[in-house]
Amino acid sequence: MAVSATKFTLTGTLPRLPSHPRRPTRTPSITMAVSVDPKTSTKLILRKSEEAFAAAKELMPGGVNSPVRAFKSVGGQPILIDSVKGCRMWDIDGNEYIDYVGSWGPAIIGHADDQVLAALGETMKKGTSFGAPCLLENTLAEMVISAVPSIEMVRFVNSGTEACMGALRLARAFTGNEKIIKFEGCYHGHADPFLVKAGSGVATLGLPDSPGVPKAATFETLTAPYNDFSAVEEIFKANKGEIAALFLEPVVGNSGFIPPKPEFLSFLRKITKENNTLLVFDEVMTGFRLSYGGAQEYFGITPDLTTLGKIIGGGLPVGAYGGRREIMQMVAPAGPMYQAGTLSGNPLAMTAGIQTLKRIKEPGTYQYLDKITGELVQGIVEAGKKAGHAICGGHIGGMFGFFFTEGPVHNFTDAKKSDADKFVRFFWGMLEEGVYLAPSQFEAGFTSLAHTSDDIKKTIAAAEKVFRQI
Ligand SMILES: *Cc1c(COP(=O)(O)O)cnc(C)c1O
Repeated sequence: MAVSATKFTLTGTLPRLPSHPRRPTRTPSITMAVSVDPKTSTKLILRKSEEAFAAAKELMPGGVNSPVRAFKSVGGQPILIDSVKGCRMWDIDGNEYIDYVGSWGPAIIGHADDQVLAALGETMKKGTSFGAPCLLENTLAEMVISAVPSIEMVRFVNSGTEACMGALRLARAFTGNEKIIKFEGCYHGHADPFLVKAGSGVATLGLPDSPGVPKAATFETLTAPYNDFSAVEEIFKANKGEIAALFLEPVVGNSGFIPPKPEFLSFLRKITKENNTLLVFDEVMTGFRLSYGGAQEYFGITPDLTTLGKIIGGGLPVGAYGGRREIMQMVAPAGPMYQAGTLSGNPLAMTAGIQTLKRIKEPGTYQYLDKITGELVQGIVEAGKKAGHAICGGHIGGMFGFFFTEGPVHNFTDAKKSDADKFVRFFWGMLEEGVYLAPSQFEAGFTSLAHTSDDIKKTIAAAEKVFRQI
């Protein structure tokens, strides 16, 4: 996953030295916790990863192509993956992990699924890209439209970032307004207007959160704390008739797992309607993840526009935005709002998406994900409490998270109360036990149809052990 507005701050402040119980303390400069000395660790040998990452750092900024992969929040260096299958990953040193990152969400049926691979093979025989319309686009479009309540027409792009950029331009084109509201701790890809650090004030004028983002790009971005009804009301009052769109993650996954308060989404639906502002659900993460129709189906709240990504690409690069027909008809070439893509609607990506959606549409998918994910979170939270740690957690469908604080966590400020050092120790402890969690406490976790009850039991047993040690 790409860096978010919040993650810029976090990586800058978090990496204190992880004090792993069985690992000698080292200087925080180059290779920290992960450079396991074979003499002190009985479990993980990461020599090849260390060498490869050292080389990578000379070749690519920070050694990675997306910042959170660099493990900066957990004070170490990443593990290079060699292969994945089902719910398992193997690193280049041969260590095996139960994976709860799932490529940051797409792997909902498990990695490298045989049927998906076979379908990809068939499509590939016909070519990898046409630069012209193909039947597969119709098929995936029909599947998305019939699944997601708000979507009557859809435009495929190549990433969630692109989807959010398109939806933003469309909302501005449709309403004729330029201001937007976003919530602190919500991530909508790395386009300039979304890279805004939320201030403490209610209607804080957006200040760019990354060098290189011009003030003009974020000038129209207003921010509010998530789940804060009155902050939203005040922004609408102070900017009457000027707000094009309100963007949000209907369940936050990019500052850890934070569900909306009861009535928060219906409140947003009501206030945006009253103000002729488009309500945009960024369902890049939650789409097909909480339920087949996403958060909007789960909560019964229909936005005007929806962005998708991750799962609908089945592990290949895809994004999409869609909504009511009258709005979508503004997109070129049907209408005047320009947006294009050389590889958009790519046959391989469409194929992986179609096969993935076919599988999760089968009855029982979300009951199963909800069951195993509930057991996982309950098991981890109970194990933590039993060992005397402050911990809270939650899940919906196959998406989950926990924080090292008593809670409740309703927004990013609450999330930041989580004990960062403890998370770092927990993360490395679990890794040594063969469990791969997101390398930041401000990321949601994901299960898949390939996780079995046995995998969940093993994970909880590992957590019990690690909680006693940290
Ligand atoms: C991952 C994500 C994005 C960005 O998608 P990319 O494919 O990484 O560009 C946008 N919004 C949300 C909610 C996400 O989780």
